Amino acid sequence: MRFLLLSDIHANLEALEAVVADASGLYQQVVCLGDIVGYGPDPNTTTEWVQENCAAVIRGNHDRAAIDLEEAQRFNPVAALAAGWTNSAMSESNLEYLNQLPSGPLDAGGFDLVHGSVLDEDQYVVDPTDAVEPLRAQTADLVFFGHTHLQGGFSCHNSDRCVVALPAAGLLSTSRGQSYLINPGSVGQPRDEDWKAAYAIYDTATGEVEFRRCEYDVEATQRKIVDAGLPGVLAERLALGR
Ligand code: ZN
Repeated sequence: MRFLLLSDIHANLEALEAVVADASGLYQQVVCLGDIVGYGPDPNTTTEWVQENCAAVIRGNHDRAAIDLEEAQRFNPVAALAAGWTNSAMSESNLEYLNQLPSGPLDAGGFDLVHGSVLDEDQYVVDPTDAVEPLRAQTADLVFFGHTHLQGGFSCHNSDRCVVALPAAGLLSTSRGQSYLINPGSVGQPRDEDWKAAYAIYDTATGEVEFRRCEYDVEATQRKIVDAGLPGVLAERLALGR
């Protein structure tokens, strides 16, 4: 089975559509690692797409904030403003869909999905030091995560527990006896200084994870952000990949 791994779509419909077109023919099932909404201008259409197309979905902190504005007040001012806008822009049924999403870890068929880590759905796993405790705590050998918007990940051998960062591009062959924490990157708001939409394909038959990027109409998304009255910085950052 080949899975299309999506994370941090952030209501960016142009990026989501470009990824789906780019990945056409490469997968049989789709899974989503949370933050469907927040920051971006299309929270309804992206939520409806996820609901219709994903076999397994977990919530992210921005999905929680869109339904709980007290939670949103803990965000920085721009993110809090975007969460309030998202709440008012979304239909009742789409908000209800977000509200019933589980937190991770969720077994998606021999591997687990988390937003931050198995220890804390809000944890930012950015470097190998951050990954030590989550890798030790995870029960599945392979865990996919999001939240940092950084494509790549970490692994350790199950005997020595020495954590290394994985190459954040191309094809990764996973091997037995190793634990992996892998981030497909962000579809709708990459932060690794590459503006192109990020995603990954996981093939359970070969154990290979392919990190992929694709171009999308970033100017169209930027125009929608400005037209919606969302902070201009949210449009600007998309072109910079930060
Ligand atoms: Zn996010």
